[in-house]
Parts: sequence; structure tokens; C-alpha cells
Amino acid sequence: MRKIQVIGAGLAGCEAAHWLASRGIPVDLFEMRPSRLTEAHKTGDFAELVCSNSFKSLSPITAPGILKREMELLGSLAIQCAKKAAIGAGEALAVDRDLFSRAMTEAIRAQPLIRVQETEVTSLPDDPSVLTILATGPLTSPALSTSLARFTGSEHFYFYDAISPIVDSQSLDMEIIFSANRYGKTTRALEESAVSAEGNADYLNCPFTKEEYEAFIDLLLAGERVVPKNFERVKHFEGCMPIEEMADRGRNTPRFGPMKPVGLVDPRTGREPYAAVQLRPENQSKTAYNLVGFQTKLKYGEQGKVFRTIPGLGQAEFLRFGSMHRNTFVDAPRVLNLDLSLRNARQVMLAGQITGVEGYMESAAVGMLAGIFAEARLAQKPVPNPPEASGLGALLHHLRNPLNTDFQPSGINFGLFEDAPFADAMAELRLRFPKKIPKEEKRRLLGEVSLKNAAEFAQRVRG
Ligand SMILES: Cc1cc2nc3c(=O)[nH]c(=O)nc-3n(C[C@H](O)[C@H](O)[C@H](O)COP(=O)(O)OP(=O)(O)OC[C@H]3O[C@@H](n4cnc5c(N)ncnc54)[C@H](O)[C@@H]3O)c2cc1C
Repeated sequence: MRKIQVIGAGLAGCEAAHWLASRGIPVDLFEMRPSRLTEAHKTGDFAELVCSNSFKSLSPITAPGILKREMELLGSLAIQCAKKAAIGAGEALAVDRDLFSRAMTEAIRAQPLIRVQETEVTSLPDDPSVLTILATGPLTSPALSTSLARFTGSEHFYFYDAISPIVDSQSLDMEIIFSANRYGKTTRALEESAVSAEGNADYLNCPFTKEEYEAFIDLLLAGERVVPKNFERVKHFEGCMPIEEMADRGRNTPRFGPMKPVGLVDPRTGREPYAAVQLRPENQSKTAYNLVGFQTKLKYGEQGKVFRTIPGLGQAEFLRFGSMHRNTFVDAPRVLNLDLSLRNARQVMLAGQITGVEGYMESAAVGMLAGIFAEARLAQKPVPNPPEASGLGALLHHLRNPLNTDFQPSGINFGLFEDAPFADAMAELRLRFPKKIPKEEKRRLLGEVSLKNAAEFAQRVRG
């Protein structure tokens, strides 16, 4: 049998190794800590949580809740250990971080088929007889990052993310917002895609008067910001500067940057507005939109307060807030195959945050999928894809979607769930609610369908 190794004993690496070992496949697991720490990890324990101790909601009508329940169906080690280390946190699954990481470490070390090697891996393994799962996370060591970037091309390898907020389309005020592409142009990526570029314009636009713009800039400048950790203090590229830092440079700078109104005629006034925020669809179903160029370091609570003063976003529901982090990740839709292996190095699969998912549980989920895919590869079987209509499928679609041309990491959120895979179930719901489907009902349905599909998937891959 081919040898298999996992690099990085974080959330993803532990899940991948655990999946393989529990299927009777021996694994070498490499971890550089404690002899070499990252800028954020402090211990030698596996799956150390470097910041918050929450794995977010368990509620089956939230996207993180759906994902965790699906992972549990597949036997996730992280969920088992989280339940052992859980502390009271209402609907959320929060843990005692030391107990959690200790439980993960003990479970991995107790597994006879996993051989732990405490050493840093400094270059991408090139032996084709060894299948490698690379799960070295957002703080992958510099030597290994350099080696990986050689295989992806530096234009598809990133050291920082620049994430804009995402809003639910149902919460937008379309009495104020208008639909138009700048100068009426079609989006080039759609010209060759299966998705129709006809009909509605792609962008939605939130028009500002001068007074609205001035008031918005005042709030933006006053908004409380996240203080970056020492290793996150960077000079930002012009193309991905936080919106509030742009306003620091001059009150009109955003108006000549992401808030520029040129080429956008508001059909209600027949004129270009004083400024505009553009909203770009986040998925093909257009159920979620991101605020273009609004990567930000404002605290989450502040983002809600400041961004709801954007005309048309008064009642906006934020599916994800914006952020900017030190983060190692690849341009997954361009550099990964369907089984998460590198297009330029088939013997190396990626897992966890480095693939372009964001968050503890999302990283663990992609670790588990990498384990499942690796098992299939060893057995020379086709990739066992999770169902499209599921949280796992939605997360994986984010990594695979070629229309995602401005690829940025994402945690699980309802904006990643496309409508099409759920169409049959939605049709039934539409009969019950012919006028408008209540949001809660839709989310409950997405959860039910996802869990049913994930249960079938789990049965298929666990045999
Ligand atoms: C500062 C910071 C704060 C964060 N806060 C949150 C949060 O609050 N909530 C949340 O959900 N997510 C948060 N994240 C994201 C979170 O880190 C990831 O979601 C998650 O830990 C990633 O899991 P992973 O398994 O991909 O990587 P990690 O958990 O980071 O695991 C990677 C492992 O690989 C090891 N490694 C690295 N390079 C090498 C090498 N060359 N050789 C051998 N081993 C190596 C590392 O030591 C580490 O143990 C944060 C990330 C950072 C950087």
C-alpha cells in the first residue's frame, strides 16, 4: 500500500489522521510544535485553539449548527472532544480550551495506527509513492510556505486575507438600492460561463447623497477597530486596504475608491449619486451579496452599526462580517483538483484553513473530507463527493467554484448554500407559503435536507 502522511496536527490534520486510522490505514503525523511554535500557538498540544474558545452555534437552523451536526454523523473527533470539554454557552458549543486540546492530543496519541513525528517539514514532499495531506494552517512555517508557493505560483498563494461583509439579499431595501453594472457592462467571467449573464445586472448599488456620505464617513472614522497582534501589523497593498484606513487618508478617498459612483446612473434620479457602495452576488442564486472593497478591521458590533447607515442597508442581515488577518491560503478554485490535491503535485492534498475555509470547525470539516478523499485514492476509487445539498457540500463548493474569481476564505454561512440543490424541497415549501417563505422556515428546511443527505453520505463512506 502507498504510504500516507499528514503534516500539521491542528484541527484539520487531527481529523484527517483520525479518519484514516479509524479506517485501518496507518499514518505518519508531523507536527513542529513544541520545538517550533507559530506566532499564535503557545503549547505543544494538538488542535490548540489560538483565539476564541467557541465553535459557534449548535442550532440546526444556523449554518454552523448544520455543519457540526453533519460532522458528528461522520464521527468527527473534534466534535467528540468538544462535547467532553464543553462549558455552558447557551446555543453555542464553547469549550475549556486546555481540556479540548488535551482530549484531542490524547485521542491521537492513543491511536496505534498514528505515528507522531515531532519535526518541522520544510519543503513539499515530492515522493510520488507517498500521499501527503498538508494541513499546516493559517500560520504555516515560512520555509514550507515558500516551497508550497512554488507549486501554486505566487499569484495564487496568499499571506493575508481581506474579507468583506456579506448581507442576506432578502434584507435589502430595494426601494433605495438599484441594480446596474458600471457603464452597463456585463461581467467578463460570465461571458463564458454556464450562468446566464442576461437579464438583471450583476451588481446592486446603494446610492449616497452628499449629506449621507459625510455622515457615513464620520461614523466610519469613529468606529472602534480591532487592535492587530504584533505579527499582523502590516502595510496593506493599495488594492486591499481596510475601508476605514482609506477614510483616514482623506474623507473623499473612499469616494474615489470602492465608493466611486462613476458609470452608475440611479434610475430614480436619472443621475450618478454622490457616492455608491456596490454589492456583488456571493452565489449563483443571488441570495447573498458582499460589499465590494469593504474589507475592514472594525469590530463586528461596530460593523453592524456603521454599515447599516449605508442607504438600503438599514435592515441588513449580515451573514458574515468583514475582517483582515494574517492567513496562509491558496486560490483553491485555480490550484486544487476536486479531491483537494494540488494540480501541480497530485501526491499532495491540502486540508484545513490553508484551502481557503475559515474557522475551527470548517477547518476540521475539510480535514475530515481530505481523510475521506485520501482513503478513496488509496483504494483507487472515485472521489466520494458529499451531497451538494448539505453544509459539507456548500463548504466544498466554495473551494471548487471557478466563478469565485476574487477568492477569499469563508466560514460556513447561508450565503454558501445555493438554491438549486434544494429546489425540490423548496418547491414544497413554496406551496405552503405562496406569498413569501419565512426565513426561519427556509433555514429549517435547509437544515433538514442537509442532515438527511449527510446521513446518507456518512453511511456510504463509513460502509
Ligand atoms: C491569530 C488567529 C486567531 C484565530 N481566531 C479564530 C477564532 O477565534 N475562531 C475560529 O473559528 N477560527 C480562528 N482562527 C482560524 C483558526 O486558526 C483556524 O480556523 C484553525 O485553527 C485552522 O485549523 P488548521 O488545522 O487548518 O490549522 P491549525 O489549527 O493552525 O494547525 C496547523 C498545525 O500545523 C503546524 N505546522 C505549521 N507549519 C508546519 C510545518 N512546516 N511542519 C510541521 N507542522 C507545521 C502548526 O504548528 C499547527 O499545529 C484564527 C486564526 C489565527 C491565525
